[in-house]
Amino acid sequence: MKTPDLKKRKYAKPLPSVVIAGANFGGLKAAVSLPKRFNVTVIDPEPYFEFSPNIHELISGLKTPEMLRFSKQKAINRSGHHYLQETVTAILPEQKKIITTSGSTLSYDYCILSIGGQNNTAVVKGAEKHAMPFKSVRQCYDIAKRIEILTSGKRKISIVIAGGGFEGIEALGEILRKYKNSRGLQVHIVEKQKRLMADTPTDIDSEIRRLCNDFPVTFHTGKTITRVWKHSVDLSDKSKLSSQVTIWNIGTRPPDILYESKLTDAPNQWLNVKSTLQHMAYPEIFAAGDIAGMPFPLRKQAYHALDMGKTGAENIIRKHAGRKLKAFKPSSKPMLVSFGDLDAFLIDKKIVVAGPAIGLLKEAVFHYVMTDLDPSGAFLKAIHTSERATAAAIKLASTMTVSPAALAKLGKVRIIK
Ligand SMILES: Cc1cc2nc3c(=O)[nH]c(=O)nc-3n(C[C@H](O)[C@H](O)[C@H](O)COP(=O)(O)OP(=O)(O)OC[C@H]3O[C@@H](n4cnc5c(N)ncnc54)[C@H](O)[C@@H]3O)c2cc1C
Repeated sequence: MKTPDLKKRKYAKPLPSVVIAGANFGGLKAAVSLPKRFNVTVIDPEPYFEFSPNIHELISGLKTPEMLRFSKQKAINRSGHHYLQETVTAILPEQKKIITTSGSTLSYDYCILSIGGQNNTAVVKGAEKHAMPFKSVRQCYDIAKRIEILTSGKRKISIVIAGGGFEGIEALGEILRKYKNSRGLQVHIVEKQKRLMADTPTDIDSEIRRLCNDFPVTFHTGKTITRVWKHSVDLSDKSKLSSQVTIWNIGTRPPDILYESKLTDAPNQWLNVKSTLQHMAYPEIFAAGDIAGMPFPLRKQAYHALDMGKTGAENIIRKHAGRKLKAFKPSSKPMLVSFGDLDAFLIDKKIVVAGPAIGLLKEAVFHYVMTDLDPSGAFLKAIHTSERATAAAIKLASTMTVSPAALAKLGKVRIIK
């Protein structure tokens, strides 16, 4: 029998410790990319990973909460790491420590912050109390149930969507998918910019308005909401809209904890990092996902968060081995925006390709990413995907090569100029 080498065990170096705060796109990808030779603890109060790019489909019932989620605990344990279902309440960068809700203190050699953004309801009076944020599965499901109950009666119902960016447009699309023929329904979109989805390269605005011609939708562009009440909203042009459901879709803001932990110079700032994703002053702290303030403009998107999580993990491995770190280079993947069963858009740097067939691609990306992060859940998601996606869409989703020929394989598409 082999005698255990006690001397060796006693003096063996402890494993380098990594604490990851936040375990959705950025944090979970970082966790599954770190090998077991690191002692990794992942902290997040929410037990389920949530695929936010498709949460709007809860409104029409096309997706159920179960389809959009899986257990963080299982995915993290599968990678050989530890999951702590708590909230990080403070980061002490000088001491390399993290404090959680229960008062636990965790020391780290390396840390990845991936806690995303905070709901933006505090910016308008009454929104915190009366508006319904649109960021998580639970929030969207609550919106879906509320609309369902209100439309089941004979009363007129008015829905206001605050924000005509891509999330607001996707919400509108799902409301129309399910309720476009409901009597007594009126939907209002309020958008600060003059155009809907103003940061897209071509005129999606007139496409959306054209698609809504026959439906009870009113667009209020170039206006803002100045006050939210229980059953109405006030607009900057002094008009008032009746609203039984006010959906809050005006983006997110940086988490307060960053400034409270002295990781930013001022409140309401994203975590400024170098291209290696390292904090400017604390090189052992990395950022992944929406929380990162990059040295170049970058959309806050799930596919960037995933890539940052991977790069952050790889850079920790490199740093620990004394190797040069690599810069995060954003991929040039296009954005996919669905508009219910009416249309869908693929938005690249300069062109926009449209057609319901693009919706297949979005569905295939959902399937591809969920299966990648949670291989055990493939079956459940495949049931849904098989109804809509084609082999061509799945293949495209894995590479996201945007060639007109590849897109044409999905079905009829058109280029918007
Ligand atoms: C409605 C909607 C539609 C979208 N559509 C698309 C799309 O089509 N394509 C696309 O690419 N992107 C889309 N996005 C953006 C995408 O969801 C985000 O870019 C992505 O979720 C960012 O990932 P993240 O990991 O940085 O943050 P998040 O996904 O926000 O995750 C943050 C995690 O941190 C946890 N957390 C928060 N605070 C703490 C704390 N103090 N301690 C510990 N844990 C904490 C949270 O519970 C959460 O699990 C959409 C977003 C929304 C809201």
